[in-house]
Amino acid sequence: MVDVRRADLHTHTYHSDGHLSPRELVVTAAQHGLAAIAITDHDTIDGLAEGERAGMECGVEVIPGVELSVTVREESVHLLGYFFDPAHAELREHFGRFIEHRRERVHRIVERLSALGIALSFEAVQARAKGRALGRPHVAEAMVDAGHVATERDAFEQYLADGKPASVSSVPFAAEEALALLHEAGGIGVLAHPGHWTADRTVMTLIRCGLDGIETIHPGHDAMLTGYYQQLARDMGLLETGGSDFHRPGSESAMGRTTIPYAWLARARSVAETSRARMVS
Ligand code: AMP
Ligand code: ZN
Ligand code: FE
Ligand code: FE
Repeated sequence: MVDVRRADLHTHTYHSDGHLSPRELVVTAAQHGLAAIAITDHDTIDGLAEGERAGMECGVEVIPGVELSVTVREESVHLLGYFFDPAHAELREHFGRFIEHRRERVHRIVERLSALGIALSFEAVQARAKGRALGRPHVAEAMVDAGHVATERDAFEQYLADGKPASVSSVPFAAEEALALLHEAGGIGVLAHPGHWTADRTVMTLIRCGLDGIETIHPGHDAMLTGYYQQLARDMGLLETGGSDFHRPGSESAMGRTTIPYAWLARARSVAETSRARMVS
């Protein structure tokens, strides 16, 4: 029998900058016939418990995940973590600290905007976020609400994108440490959407730091980039993963459009299990 099941290992909820609740996300996945999804909010696992409960009710397997913003040398990349123990103490402590960092960062972004003549309160940004992990997308939405810019894209292009006048860098978290933490918690670490900006030598550094896989399938990857990273994953003996990077309905990263075979997920799980067994022995 051919396994026709599909999975999506990159999704966001309103616990970071997505628009749906974990339950709504899982229901959407079920409507699209997905067998499994990973919830990979930015720097938080607040949405996992609700997602897992909804998954059991809807018959969708929900994998613990997270998308970490990390640095490799000076470069900033996103790492996807999977299959870690969400109750792991050190991991939880890390997420607690990062939520605080994110709030402080938004305070500083608001201050910078104010110095630029854009009056926006921290509370207005907070009001755009249903969860605790605040980020630049919430600031962008609040700027649109207040009529300072026409679109969120304008907010990024004029103020918030890296290097723009109101951008504030996040607290650095070294990729090496992030990978060690994920492994410590029984999980694996995968480089998210390398086709966006990641230099090849950065990928090589990550591999030396224990990277387990590369996200080859992503809406931001065209066929050429996907092929390029698939070859790299094979050459380096790494897992391949993929997903929609779903944030909200009706966008280019719509649910169901960018999926992977369930077998990739099974392989990733077995890599996590094997390395866990190795740590215990
Ligand atoms: P943060 O985690 O607060 O740094 O925000 C990162 C998120 O902002 C990314 O996941 C994107 O969704 C969004 N983002 C970052 N840069 C841009 C940009 N130049 N234009 C539009 N959205 C962006
Ligand atoms: Zn996001
Ligand atoms: Fe990302
Ligand atoms: Fe993402």
